[in-house]
Amino acid sequence: MTSKEIRKAFLDFFEEKGHQIVKSAPMVVKGDPTLMFTNAGMNQFKDKFLGNEPIKWPRVADTQKCLRVSGKHNDLEEVGLDTYHHTMFEMLGNWSFGDYFKKEVIDWAWEFLVDKMGLPADRLYASVFEGSSDDNLGRDDEAASYWEKHLPKECILDGSKKDNFWEMGDTGPCGPCSEIHVDLRPEEERAKLPGRELVNKDHPLVIEIWNLVFMQFNRKADGSLQALPARHVDTGMGFERLCMAVQGVTSNYDTDLFQNIIGEIEKLSNIKYGTDEKTDIAMRVVADHLRAVAFAIADGQLPSNNKAGYVIRRILRRAVRYGYTFLSLREPFIYKLVEVLKNTMGDTFSELAAQQQLIEKVIKEEEESFLHTLSTGIKLLDEMVSKTRQENGTHIDGKDAFVLYDTYGFPLDLTALIAREHGLSVDEAGFSSAMEEQKKRSRNAAQLETGDWIDIRKIDQTKFLGYDTTEAEVRIARYRKV
Ligand code: ATP
Ligand code: MG
Ligand code: MG
Ligand code: MG
Repeated sequence: MTSKEIRKAFLDFFEEKGHQIVKSAPMVVKGDPTLMFTNAGMNQFKDKFLGNEPIKWPRVADTQKCLRVSGKHNDLEEVGLDTYHHTMFEMLGNWSFGDYFKKEVIDWAWEFLVDKMGLPADRLYASVFEGSSDDNLGRDDEAASYWEKHLPKECILDGSKKDNFWEMGDTGPCGPCSEIHVDLRPEEERAKLPGRELVNKDHPLVIEIWNLVFMQFNRKADGSLQALPARHVDTGMGFERLCMAVQGVTSNYDTDLFQNIIGEIEKLSNIKYGTDEKTDIAMRVVADHLRAVAFAIADGQLPSNNKAGYVIRRILRRAVRYGYTFLSLREPFIYKLVEVLKNTMGDTFSELAAQQQLIEKVIKEEEESFLHTLSTGIKLLDEMVSKTRQENGTHIDGKDAFVLYDTYGFPLDLTALIAREHGLSVDEAGFSSAMEEQKKRSRNAAQLETGDWIDIRKIDQTKFLGYDTTEAEVRIARYRKV
């Protein structure tokens, strides 16, 4: 099955089960002080769980654009090194707002994965909440009993509060969850094992694909739990991981979601994927970061020096540097990949096609401006590394890291990444105080806080389908501001 067919099969499956299919919310969140980017499918339904918003449809499903690069969920350092954590990814999800509960969602998850997707039943595992004495809660035997219909007992694993109890925040709706894992290890390797129960322990090819959350409690301000009058279900499945399992490959980057992008990077760099670990990582990072940056710009978030805009700039500069150092790509090249990305995902996310020119233009300019100082910055950093080493130091001086940031446009995490490649760390406290000093010096710094976000929804109301607002006049003005 192609990724398009898999995505459609998921949505069709839940539509048949009475779910309203809704659109992905924007990936860039505006107007929520607690969240910069959507990091899970449930974000857009937060107010429904909290009882602040009426429930229009008790059953809903969608695919949600997510970005996990900041705050509680930050997977940036994993990306490219492993083959199943992305910055930007799609999270497939189905929800019940006070409607069905554990039995239905477990049965349907199984039916979808095994009957519809054809995943071998003997490669699947489930985890259930083991209970916690803090909250005076026992094991989630109820969920376990539904899993026992589908799985032998040894494939239902108990998980701790950390992994198997989901909370929205310090207070509010919460409850146990049940994760589904898939074992993608070669048959020969599995055959050597005495029992199935042994294979599910921290192996890079035994991967979590779906998390089913059962919201049945409300955490009160005094820390105690109260049973919710209406119980809800919130699920999230990594779409790229599902595609990997269904397409019979062992890396998200070997699915049709990434193959053409990787193919294009191979052409541009004249290097084959799969020949060298270092260049492979670089290609994965570039392919991944391209998606994060393109989708953010399509949502109206331009790279800038502040907040969400700086997160996007950091991701893009990280990709530029991986290309520069490991793929010898010394001219802007990432913008050239937007076309392939659009061909891969543009059917589902029309904003990619609608904003293609803007995305390419912004990425190209951003690449040009960073490449301008990158080689000098890298030389300087190399000297800092040698000097630190000669002096038997363990870290790059914070003030030096600040010079790289301020004069050469090196985000701190990029300096830290390069330092790490040489076995060194960066004095982050020193960096911060150098930054503070500079802020004090420059009274105008606060002005940078504005002007980095354009409201894309107002550029072309007819093509961009993610929102409901209309304000035709403002759109042009804001667009021109770019
Ligand atoms: P993991 O333990 O692999 O980091 P998680 O427990 O943090 O995943 P959840 O918050 O439960 O993930 O999100 C639901 C699903 O989204 C996961 O089961 C997984 O399939 C997918 N997912 C989570 N993080 C990523 C990511 N960075 N890239 C791709 N898919 C992801
Ligand atoms: Mg995680
Ligand atoms: Mg997990
Ligand atoms: Mg999880």
